[in-house]
Amino acid sequence: MERTDDIQRERENGRRRTGQSISEEHWLAIIANDSAYDGIFYYAVRTTGIYCRPSCKSRPPKRDNAEVFASSADAAAAGYRACKRCKPAGVRLPDEDWAEQIASFMDRHYAEELDLATLGDLCHGSPYHLHRTFKKVKGVTPLVYLQQTRMQEARKLLAVTSMPISNVGDRVGMRNTPYFTTLFKKLTGYTPAQYRERHKRT
Ligand SMILES: [Zn+2]
Repeated sequence: MERTDDIQRERENGRRRTGQSISEEHWLAIIANDSAYDGIFYYAVRTTGIYCRPSCKSRPPKRDNAEVFASSADAAAAGYRACKRCKPAGVRLPDEDWAEQIASFMDRHYAEELDLATLGDLCHGSPYHLHRTFKKVKGVTPLVYLQQTRMQEARKLLAVTSMPISNVGDRVGMRNTPYFTTLFKKLTGYTPAQYRERHKRT
């Protein structure tokens, strides 16, 4: 019966590494930003990789994407980073780390509609503060970074696929084809069609 014990122990260890699922009580505390629960549990959001105190004023996550931890150390051990806004680890997240979080979020989500307000919500900071901090650390504003990321992906798609221009725009988060074409030309000196002609990899 030792084997059964081992399996049981493995299961428990596995469960400890990921958080608990969210109970009704946790959920109510999170959507009410109830500070009475601060220190009692922490919640982490898989899509952003960030964890918070229940009282955090950030937009509530999708319930399915969130999990709960008993301590900030557990959340950190599971690979989550502390929220910039509610500082669940009791220390301020360095600006460099925050800018990295924001950049890596854009690297993964450039195809979606993103603006400063959305980024602020998702990366837990006011749009103004986010804009300033990002620019200070990265040397470009978040929106310029996003445009650069999109254009880099667009160049790749133009060179290696024969996808129509409008689909390329779509795939990099720019649904408005004329705007995509104009911006592409402004940043690279070529229209998407010209660029493809010059860089086609056959
Ligand atoms: Zn927070």
